[in-house]
Amino acid sequence: MNLKKWANLIITLTGVAMPAVSASPAAGAKEDDEHVTVHLADSAGDMLLVAQAKRLASQMFAGIEVKIVWRVGLPAAGQKGVIGIEIVTNTPESLHPSALAYSRPYEGVHIRIFWDRIQRMPFPNKVLAHVMVHEITHILEGIDRHSGEGIMKAHWSDADFGSMGIKPLSFAPEDVLMIHNGLKTRNSSAQSTTGQPERTSVTVSGAGK
Ligand SMILES: [Zn+2]
Repeated sequence: MNLKKWANLIITLTGVAMPAVSASPAAGAKEDDEHVTVHLADSAGDMLLVAQAKRLASQMFAGIEVKIVWRVGLPAAGQKGVIGIEIVTNTPESLHPSALAYSRPYEGVHIRIFWDRIQRMPFPNKVLAHVMVHEITHILEGIDRHSGEGIMKAHWSDADFGSMGIKPLSFAPEDVLMIHNGLKTRNSSAQSTTGQPERTSVTVSGAGK
């Protein structure tokens, strides 16, 4: 691992086609608007730290009135309206070098987190929670964008990483709005992920020692 210093940036790998923007009617599914089901397949083997990260991620979303419903294991192929996180280790150095995770905001389901690049950082459970929340937010917003401050910042600074150990980073107001709008769209429409573009949002960090 040649990750040398605190630094973080998010890059986008552009693939094919355009974002799928769906205008869906609000079908009065009020209670469904506030939750998202997240399937987690964890091959990290750090069950305690991952459990702590899940708890913190849930708390961070609860702070903006979004409930995470956790499920064990990846979603079934073609399953709609859910998010699937894979926590993996033994990441090849050549795969998105220095990335902590990536997600597919336009495909709307899949996130992969590189635990081996997080586990040696200070507060790995808290960094993992922030990476989960950052990538879940990309999926819920359905777009690869970043905010000037907080969880959806493109570049977490040393100070950001340091403050994660004390208190979670916050959502920018525009992210709160976009998350709730995204949830309405996801939960009120039969979202199809088939044939959607493969653009990837990558959270890159040069962290760890
Ligand atoms: Zn990002």
